[in-house]
Amino acid sequence: MQDKAFRPETRIVRRQDRSAVRKHRADLCVVGAGISGVSAAIEAARLGRDVILVDGLPAVGGQAVNSIIGMIVGLFGNGPNGKQLTHGIADDILRDLGAAGDLEVRMGGVSPNAFYSEVALGRWVERKILELNITPLVGAVLRRVHLEQRRVAELELATRYGDVVVRADGFVDATGDAALVWQAGLECREPAEGVIYGSQMMVIENFDDAHRPTRDEVSARLRDRGEHYGLTRRDGFAMNLPGGRTAIVNMTHIENPLDPFAASRKGIEGKEQADRALNFLKAEFPEAFGATRVRAYGLPGMRQTRWIVGCHHLTVDEVRRGVKFEDAIARTAWPLEQHHHAEGYVWEPFTEDHLHYVPFGSLTPPDADNLVAAGRAIDGDATALSSVRVMGPCIAMGAAAAHALDLAGEGSVHQIDRTALNARIRANIED
Ligand SMILES: Cc1cc2nc3c(=O)[nH]c(=O)nc-3n(C[C@H](O)[C@H](O)[C@H](O)COP(=O)(O)OP(=O)(O)OC[C@H]3O[C@@H](n4cnc5c(N)ncnc54)[C@H](O)[C@@H]3O)c2cc1C
Repeated sequence: MQDKAFRPETRIVRRQDRSAVRKHRADLCVVGAGISGVSAAIEAARLGRDVILVDGLPAVGGQAVNSIIGMIVGLFGNGPNGKQLTHGIADDILRDLGAAGDLEVRMGGVSPNAFYSEVALGRWVERKILELNITPLVGAVLRRVHLEQRRVAELELATRYGDVVVRADGFVDATGDAALVWQAGLECREPAEGVIYGSQMMVIENFDDAHRPTRDEVSARLRDRGEHYGLTRRDGFAMNLPGGRTAIVNMTHIENPLDPFAASRKGIEGKEQADRALNFLKAEFPEAFGATRVRAYGLPGMRQTRWIVGCHHLTVDEVRRGVKFEDAIARTAWPLEQHHHAEGYVWEPFTEDHLHYVPFGSLTPPDADNLVAAGRAIDGDATALSSVRVMGPCIAMGAAAAHALDLAGEGSVHQIDRTALNARIRANIED
């Protein structure tokens, strides 16, 4: 008996049916399990919908978890007393992670922001998936989208364990790169010239927060000494995370090409930049950073890559004027934050009473009836998008996408009862 336990029996297998695919049917299919996709999936599940949440990574949480962003911004109004602007899963995250000591709301720049542990947020998302009976499908990359007479009928996905086909009544493109809209053959936008830089984030440990230099001190030193350390970006910051001697470092600018080979290389180059940034911090601010080392590198952080052409193109003028659209579904006060040159970014903050809005039209490609985008790939000019692609409004967009598709059912998201949608997401656009 004992001998058998050490030599478990095997069987010989061979793939039989080359065309075998797993098929899945749901009410709603959300592609992209970042913060906007998670918001959409949870809202829809709470409405009693059968939801599948798909992601190309082998884990959920998107950039909020896997790129180690560390801060939810755009969630509160400006000034030290800025009020909370988005609710839904934002309330749950603030409550649950806050109670566990994994999230702190504190002033960070122009507004209160929620600093969180990415590990805790990742587990929170996973627990919600189980609790709400959402079907997770991770490690599943979108290969083909079947658009039949203005409706997305099914998606073909490749996983390491074989191909999967998903059919649903409604689809949310929360991929950040408009992957679903792109694969459906619909119009998308990309920067016409130049690039919008992403960043390689990292978490460092053994950080001494008592000696943390201010953001201005770090940036001033970067301008003076950055070249000496081989750094291209001349601003950035390190911020302590809740509950320990760890900090996130955001001090690099990396390109996010949509070419697969170039993207792979840039991901590695981003880490080289991050290492140089840590060398800089250790040498220039030894009291705070002398004993630090890297605990984790995030996956390459992508700000704006490719996004949809929607029924409404949000403009920077509308953002600056705070236009409150009839079909507004999200609001924020976050500054214009354009990362379009290697050395730094353009930062245009707003006054304490300012709010700007996202219209539902910016989430909807005009040529599809059951497809809504949410998150950083909605329609706007590059500058407008920089102020609404942060996590606060992303949560509101995910919620709106779920409610709109719920209201549309087998009909069109272009013909839903707007008053009904407005009533459902009112907390995210009114006090
Ligand atoms: C470096 C950096 C710092 C930032 N700092 C902040 C900050 O401090 N606070 C803040 O609120 N915001 C910040 N932002 C912005 C914010 O993090 C993102 O805009 C936001 O998280 C986007 O969420 P999302 O759900 O739209 O997309 P993502 O989080 O990008 O999620 C998209 C998901 O879709 C999946 N996917 C993509 N393509 C496919 C495909 N073809 N098939 C299957 N799955 C696919 C991806 O794997 C990913 O998980 C920062 C962004 C960056 C890059």
